[in-house]
Amino acid sequence: MSNNNIQSVRGMNDLLPDATDTWQGFEAIVRDWLRRYGYREMRTPILEHTGLFKRAIGEVTDIVEKEMYTFIDELNGESLTLRPEGTASSVRAVIQHNLLYDGGKRLWYSGPMFRHERPQKGRYRQFHQVGVEALGFAGPDTDAELIVMCADLWKELDIAPTLQLNTLGDQAARQRHRQKLVAYFESHREVLDEDAKRRLHSNPLRILDSKNPAMQALNEAAPRLMDELEDEALTHFDDVQSLLRAHGIAFEINPRLVRGLDYYNRTVFEWVTDQLGAQGTVCAGGRYDGLIEQLGGKPAPAAGFAMGMERLLALVEAGGRALATPGPDAYIVHAGDTARVFAWQVASALRSAGLSTILHCGGGGFKSQMKKADASCARYAVIVGDDEAAARQVTLKPLRDATEQRRTGMAQAIQFIQEATTQKV
Ligand code: ATP
Ligand code: MG
Repeated sequence: MSNNNIQSVRGMNDLLPDATDTWQGFEAIVRDWLRRYGYREMRTPILEHTGLFKRAIGEVTDIVEKEMYTFIDELNGESLTLRPEGTASSVRAVIQHNLLYDGGKRLWYSGPMFRHERPQKGRYRQFHQVGVEALGFAGPDTDAELIVMCADLWKELDIAPTLQLNTLGDQAARQRHRQKLVAYFESHREVLDEDAKRRLHSNPLRILDSKNPAMQALNEAAPRLMDELEDEALTHFDDVQSLLRAHGIAFEINPRLVRGLDYYNRTVFEWVTDQLGAQGTVCAGGRYDGLIEQLGGKPAPAAGFAMGMERLLALVEAGGRALATPGPDAYIVHAGDTARVFAWQVASALRSAGLSTILHCGGGGFKSQMKKADASCARYAVIVGDDEAAARQVTLKPLRDATEQRRTGMAQAIQFIQEATTQKV
């Protein structure tokens, strides 16, 4: 292969058919899970005006400062950005179309997100999220249900990430905490790294989110937001915890959990695993009551979460749960002129009955066709020779188990394959 060949962009991956089989299995589970909780899908454009993300996510965040794919549309000079996450777009669309006019809405989205990060295992420049937004609901019951709902999906996927929980309180408490933090960090200026110095006055809370080990001790001893919280926010947090306990959901309170996006308040949570190395957060979310108003909508509370699909799939795979069945249900091999005509009818009947069916193309003898049937990972070879065609029958040869081959009429063949394929799931 010449090394002039154009390759995909670094950190952006092709999903080949073996992978998409798994993704589709996963997506089917996810869609049905969302349906059962009464959430409805929303699809927004992948490009948005850059200002949307600056306003929603916050100017002094990793995402906006250094991770966004932003460019000028040369045709009209507008600054556009490939969406780095889904909440800003969802809220923009909800405001633009006045979706909350008759009360709260439960929405979900999924699709590719783009961040210019250093690619590594579990961290890509194009990655995929499924996100859930409960818009217009203020109570702790909503926060708790979002979390319970995640736990439900984990059970279905046979994975067991652990839950970290925190509260960020409300505006006034955050303001007081901010002042204390600035004073604290100022008195320890000599220990601050470059990032921290830059954030000291623009966004000191984000210093606590630092991944720099040299900052850990300083951060551990920093003034705690928990000590500033108002009664209302504390009661809200207590209620969330009681609801979780009542549902048997274990959690750990992590006062250092501040999240990398500015729009959160009150409840924040992350589902983390130690099975994926450094990229251990598979799902993150919380409450963001101020965001709708901040983006120009009529004030309304909101909460939600986003899951990283690549990380979740890696975790499911580490647990050994298969999400896809490889190969079609049937591969039809046929030789002879009469057989060919009948083989097409057989294919059509199998497909009408809902069975995934490959009809051999390109001729060749039975032996070479059987090799292809085997390589396709089909569950059954459906053999049609002139004999079978004359009798309007097929020979059914199992390719994945040791049961006997049998010659039957079409209706029985279909029934037989259907029964066998329902058993396998
Ligand atoms: P991290 O701390 O790992 O950078 P984050 O706080 O930036 O994550 P969010 O913006 O909360 O992530 O996105 C929600 C989820 O999306 C994350 O928990 C993770 O599972 C996934 N995710 C975020 N960035 C990436 C990425 N670059 N590649 C793959 N998955 C990602
Ligand atoms: Mg990040």
